[in-house]
Amino acid sequence: MNIFVILKQTFDTEEKISIQEGKIAEAGVKFILNPYDEYAVEEALRQKEQHGGAVTVVSVGPARVAEALRTALAMGADQAVLIQNDDSGSDEFTISSLLAAYFRDQAFDLILGGYFSVDNGAGQTAVRLARLLEIPHASAITQLQMTSDQATVTRDAEGDTEKIEIRLPALFTAQQGLNEPRYPSLPGIMKAKKKPFLTLEPQQLNGIADISPKTIRTALSLPAERKSGRILQGTIQEQTVELVHLLRSEDKVI
Ligand SMILES: Cc1cc2nc3c(=O)[nH]c(=O)nc-3n(C[C@H](O)[C@H](O)[C@H](O)COP(=O)(O)OP(=O)(O)OC[C@H]3O[C@@H](n4cnc5c(N)ncnc54)[C@H](O)[C@@H]3O)c2cc1C
Repeated sequence: MNIFVILKQTFDTEEKISIQEGKIAEAGVKFILNPYDEYAVEEALRQKEQHGGAVTVVSVGPARVAEALRTALAMGADQAVLIQNDDSGSDEFTISSLLAAYFRDQAFDLILGGYFSVDNGAGQTAVRLARLLEIPHASAITQLQMTSDQATVTRDAEGDTEKIEIRLPALFTAQQGLNEPRYPSLPGIMKAKKKPFLTLEPQQLNGIADISPKTIRTALSLPAERKSGRILQGTIQEQTVELVHLLRSEDKVI
């Protein structure tokens, strides 16, 4: 079975983020494999363990993205493909078009991705890819069972559980709960260094026409700084009176 995972390197949203000239400043930022894509990699490895075949991980982005691909190789993926793209203004149209051009030349049974990326969070790239490849897809899956030509997936739908049968080849995006991703082991990290790693320039992909972004981000800002808290003093009654006064005069919520 030919299993592919599309993955994105994101910055760690737990770390301090700063903005310079309308963009996230990349200097000093810690980059990680998008957490939802870790579920996708883990699921690909589990499906391979069950059905055999190979797992290929693919990402679009600048050279630093190689690190995220190496993490997936260290987890157990067989080979990696980096589609080099240094345009930080790329949008989901650009990324999915580049991926589609790559996949049109591949034989695949299953493509897995993340439900959304934790930085930009459009949740569009994988679904657009399925549309461009004209294959069925299901988003945010929490279970995947496969036979040679069919998959049964489970999704959480507003508290209910939905089961869908889909003919392969198909694309699925991974939701939290699909599995518990393994950590790369030390031997895995050593082996990853020797695994096939292909770097492609967009011009090497067939059928690439205009991939310039269809959307332009006009502003990006951090959330307003939170005001420091205030501890009210006095008896409960005095505190209550003061609280009501503040809610009325300062926050104007009552
Ligand atoms: C600070 C910053 C700098 C960036 N610089 C570049 C750059 O130089 N070059 C560049 O090409 N892109 C760059 N990008 C990434 C690009 O903007 C996004 O990949 C693209 O807009 C996808 O949208 P999204 O992040 O909302 O992903 P979503 O649509 O939310 O992602 C959903 C899923 O699609 C898949 N996916 C998303 N993005 C990719 C990808 N790039 N490759 C493979 N699979 C993917 C993953 O499985 C992911 O979980 C940058 C992003 C940021 C935040």
